[in-house]
Amino acid sequence: MDYPGNLFAVAAPSGTGKSSLVKALLELDSHLVVSISHTTRKPRGQEQDGREYHFIGEPEFRAMVDAGQFVEWAEVHGNLYGTSRGAIEERIVRGHDVLLEIDWQGALQIKHLFPNAVLIFLLPPSWDELLQRLQRRGEDGPEVIAQRMANARVEVSKARHFDFVIINALFETALFDLKAIVHSQRLKYASLQRARPAVFAALDLL
Ligand code: 5GP
Repeated sequence: MDYPGNLFAVAAPSGTGKSSLVKALLELDSHLVVSISHTTRKPRGQEQDGREYHFIGEPEFRAMVDAGQFVEWAEVHGNLYGTSRGAIEERIVRGHDVLLEIDWQGALQIKHLFPNAVLIFLLPPSWDELLQRLQRRGEDGPEVIAQRMANARVEVSKARHFDFVIINALFETALFDLKAIVHSQRLKYASLQRARPAVFAALDLL
């Protein structure tokens, strides 16, 4: 399927700092919108339905799967997560850039469906640092942390299938890298032609 907007998918093991980076990028970049996923997990802390996620029950989620309403979905840490067609298609068709904060399984499904999508994998600088970040975060007990570390080994092994990799050692450097990837995608001939049709037309580049 061809579409005018750019699609970015960012994946990372839990604790790598993905949410903070994506949040900082969205604050800096008004042309980028984030897709709001559906999930069967329960809201945490201050999370609100329709803001961080659309929180739904498993029967409702399965019905959406059967009705073909997801462009991708996956089970992650025991819960179901999916990106609905509505969350992205209308926007990229209108020419907006859409960012998906999803797991590696979903990102690979997206690439299959939207070959122009840019897949970005965020790596921790080391296993030690990841463990320390999970412990510092104070959200999970030792068993959950051990499970997250085991999952992280599987997740990190999938980074080779992504277009870009960012090592999140220093937040500012990682943010710079993320901005650079988004920016370079926009500078591709086809993207720029869509974004600046008047300039291209004036140069007879049709
Ligand atoms: P959390 O429950 O911590 O918000 O997210 C758990 C994991 O699910 C994260 O890796 C997150 O990126 C991923 N995730 C969130 N939404 C989606 C989605 O729509 N599809 C897929 N495949 N993964 C998602």
